[in-house]
Amino acid sequence: MNLVLLGPPGAGKGTQAKVLNEGLKLPHISTGDILRDSVKSESKFGLEVKKIMESGALVPDDLINKIIEERLSKPDTNKGFILDGFPRTKAQAVKLDEILKNHPAGDIDLVLYFDSTLKVIIDRLSGRLVCRNCGENFHIKNVPPKKEMFCDHCGGELYQRQDDKEDTIKNRIKVYEESISPLVEYYEKQKKIRKINADFSAKEVYEVLTKLFKDEQLL
Ligand code: ADP
Ligand code: ZN
Repeated sequence: MNLVLLGPPGAGKGTQAKVLNEGLKLPHISTGDILRDSVKSESKFGLEVKKIMESGALVPDDLINKIIEERLSKPDTNKGFILDGFPRTKAQAVKLDEILKNHPAGDIDLVLYFDSTLKVIIDRLSGRLVCRNCGENFHIKNVPPKKEMFCDHCGGELYQRQDDKEDTIKNRIKVYEESISPLVEYYEKQKKIRKINADFSAKEVYEVLTKLFKDEQLL
């Protein structure tokens, strides 16, 4: 099964991708995570990407397309994958379809469109804490770690992503709103998009998704 998760930052795409990955045993491919890893390397490329991400803008299509093409060429994607954060523009969606023409996993099965209200998104992003070591997400109020500022799973230190600060959040939402309609249209034409109310809790959204897969006879 090949899934694309679409939706605003903070809609919970990453959270669902992680649980889906455990259940379906399909690789979770997050372009945000891949980019953040390359920023860690502090290469010239990494520093450029860091600047773009901290402003809330998108990295150029060419660059991210190349990264995805390389990632999808790895054999762990042969039976399917969960794409989180890609495509983010119509050009990226076109490129993805082109890559999949010659991919063992075949075409995209479903595009899950996480619909969330502005208030919920801002609240989730501004309270989000991420583990420096394993990448697990927490939330100051909604999913507090047992020990303040430390990860429940690996004991790593928690931090606030630079792009989760207020000014950048606003810009990320603006960038998202400017780019989402052509993408939705693109997948509506292919009849692949399914809208999900992402304001519900992570557990409730997961239940909706599982039911959807059954209805679509993907499970
Ligand atoms: P979120 O979905 O919460 O905004 P991500 O971790 O997916 O966060 O992405 C963080 C940043 O990485 C984005 O704001 C953007 O700068 C960059 N990025 C991630 N995926 C893409 C993409 N497909 N195209 C362009 N830029 C991307
Ligand atoms: Zn951790």
